Amino acid sequence: MTSTDELRRGPQDETMRAALQTGLCTMKMATMPIPEALPGTVIIKVASIGICGSDLHAYRNSSGPQSFPHGHEVSGTVVETGAGVTNVSVGQRVTVDMVLGTACGKCEYCKLGTPIHCRAREFPFGGGFAEFVRTKEAGVFPLPDAVDDHLGAIVEPIAVGIHACRKMRIVPGMVGVVVGAGAIGLSAIAAARDAGSEKIYVVARHPAQAKAALAVGATEILPADPAEAIRIVEQATDGLGADYAIEAVGGTADTLDFACRFVRPLGMIGVLGAFDHGFRGVEIIAPHIKELTLHLPNCYGFIDGQHDFALAIDLLSRKGDALRTMITHNLSLDDIQEAFRLAADKRSESIKVQVHT
Ligand SMILES: [Zn+2]
Ligand SMILES: [Zn+2]
Repeated sequence: MTSTDELRRGPQDETMRAALQTGLCTMKMATMPIPEALPGTVIIKVASIGICGSDLHAYRNSSGPQSFPHGHEVSGTVVETGAGVTNVSVGQRVTVDMVLGTACGKCEYCKLGTPIHCRAREFPFGGGFAEFVRTKEAGVFPLPDAVDDHLGAIVEPIAVGIHACRKMRIVPGMVGVVVGAGAIGLSAIAAARDAGSEKIYVVARHPAQAKAALAVGATEILPADPAEAIRIVEQATDGLGADYAIEAVGGTADTLDFACRFVRPLGMIGVLGAFDHGFRGVEIIAPHIKELTLHLPNCYGFIDGQHDFALAIDLLSRKGDALRTMITHNLSLDDIQEAFRLAADKRSESIKVQVHT
């Protein structure tokens, strides 16, 4: 445990290292002012931070130079608290929900426990690819000893999977299919298994993903041939089909149509993959005939008064060893360009690439 004095920065050290995207597929290190501890906010010294699919989307598609770092899958230690902060103290190991940590806390959606739809966000979202990050106190979630810094930085993607399973009301005994076994697909598998899903069939494109899927609770990896994959799920369900399927690929492929084909009449579809803007490739008639219920969960929040991050931390404290299989690479923040390159190139067998400060 580091002492408070060591963690606190001195007046001579008011700048920090941060990684900014400076052009298409180009990340560079920069020096920036350390964020100020405004009233109600907390400054965290970043330990680990994961590269998310949304970060990669910007890396591949946006050329505008960033003035504020991305990055929202953070673990670290509280080094400073602003005026009025009562529930967080210096020296605590934490992770950050930046959705909650940047929201106003007062609008109708915040009051509803759905800060993703906040109408008056008070701070820019992100900031994690840096030595220090600021969040409002509400966004801070303490980490137990069982959840180390690396696991702490996958609380966010795990919370995405948990949120989806809670929205879909996945209950014990259900049979499901997860299409895609990147970090979000793996989170969905782990969350569905923890919710009691009896069997989870998985479509995984890469060997490292297939291995991780089995480690976090998949029943079986389906063959690459779509007709054969559907036949296996039908055989396992008396010809009926799965109770639910979760799409966790996105982009521009026909994975949502594919997911719908696995599901029985009156079953459910959850979409977690981020589809590209302008994507129109969804065949509605087949799921319409089956009267499927479509869920479009976005990030996380409170359901029945319980936050998805709290449940994700609990899951990681029980099943951290299995879930750690999704963390495939760990580089220094100074190697941010290489970290993004590895994360973007799935031939590297990367799933979750993390950087440490
Ligand atoms: Zn993320
Ligand atoms: Zn709000």
